Amino acid sequence: MPVLQPARGTQDILPDAMRRHRAVIDTARDIAARYGYAEMTTPMFEFTDVFSRPIGEATDIVSKEMYTFKDRGDEEITLRPEYTAGIVRAVISNGLTQNLPLKFFAHGPMFRYERPQKGRFRQFHQIDVELIGAGTPESDVEIIALGADILASLGVGQVCVLQLNTLGDTESRQAYRAALVDFFSAHRDGLSEDSRRRLERNPLRILDSKDPGDIRINADAPAFDTYLTDAARDFFAKVRGGLETLGIGYRINPRLVRGLDYYCHTAFEFVTEQLGAQGTVLGGGRYDGLMKLMGGPDAPAIGWAAGIERLALLIAEPASPSRPIAMIPLGEAGEAKAMTLAHALRLAGFTVDQAYSGNLKRRMQRANKIAARAAVILGDDELARGAATVRDLDTGEQIEVPLAQLKDRLAPFR
Ligand code: ATP
Ligand code: MG
Repeated sequence: MPVLQPARGTQDILPDAMRRHRAVIDTARDIAARYGYAEMTTPMFEFTDVFSRPIGEATDIVSKEMYTFKDRGDEEITLRPEYTAGIVRAVISNGLTQNLPLKFFAHGPMFRYERPQKGRFRQFHQIDVELIGAGTPESDVEIIALGADILASLGVGQVCVLQLNTLGDTESRQAYRAALVDFFSAHRDGLSEDSRRRLERNPLRILDSKDPGDIRINADAPAFDTYLTDAARDFFAKVRGGLETLGIGYRINPRLVRGLDYYCHTAFEFVTEQLGAQGTVLGGGRYDGLMKLMGGPDAPAIGWAAGIERLALLIAEPASPSRPIAMIPLGEAGEAKAMTLAHALRLAGFTVDQAYSGNLKRRMQRANKIAARAAVILGDDELARGAATVRDLDTGEQIEVPLAQLKDRLAPFR
């Protein structure tokens, strides 16, 4: 039979990688809790409308990346490509709009039909935070500070640079959009096919293109700055002021846009040079228009999401899990005793490993391989005396211990 492979763009997360993954999630959850963000999650699939309506036909996600299918009941279903739309849907469908502001932390798998490459998968994982029902510049500062704090706690703060931009209010954006359409129309022939398609529907997104030809044209594109209203300019100044007060460094990047139509005001990314082309580890922005677009009240909101795989590559090796005790029975009597002893030790909080096959030598090799701290060797002779041999695997020292004292004598090896 041919060997089965994982589907393209998916990967198994084996224990070493999983520990990194887990470290990212646990750190993010702890820090988010300190900021008052409660963990929640939404289903991994939703009716397609939940994503296609708000995210917009003109975006990469909806136009080419969604995993959409009809289920057996003929419902149009889409695997979750991002958290924001589902979380806003959840706030509305659970009647939580009376309780604003709401602060959420979430993590889980996302699905996008992309061309797989380093740091880019079809199933990947995100941590995500959303602050729904707050529209002041101070709330932007909070959510960016939360991101910076998580990156710092993960030990990657130094290699990630905060890039910041404003997309202004509706009035600013309409004026800028018109200026961009004029400009890009004059350079239409030089644009990539994707960007020509974006020209009519989502010209801001061209600024975000990774196509080399587009990047050359973008260098001369008009800057948003001149199209900002006074109110939008003031909002952005307050966000920057808040970040400066908290000592959070940033770089203004006028090319930074969020692809989606409902984004406004602050847009930001934390970017690293250590991951090659896929350098954005965290991206977010203000999305004041979304709740209303999804049938809820007109509530402002802001959030961000970060790629767990990319962060997991950046962090230092997480602390090892606690070292086990290896239970090593040598005969039939030993096997029976090992089962009850291992059980009792586990109930007492010890980590205990058993191999279930192999002679003494093989089992000692395994004990070393799993970095066991000590071995409990159950030979017939000791057992006949009601005892076991305990070997300290770091020093090689070994002593005979009465079974009744085993728990106490193993305590130093916990
Ligand atoms: P890109 O421009 O790289 O496609 P994006 O704008 O689509 O990114 P977001 O939707 O903002 O990304 O997602 C937030 C974060 O999730 C990204 O900054 C990245 O770290 C991670 N991410 C996005 N898509 C993928 C993917 N296909 N594989 C792995 N991580 C991803
Ligand atoms: Mg993308």
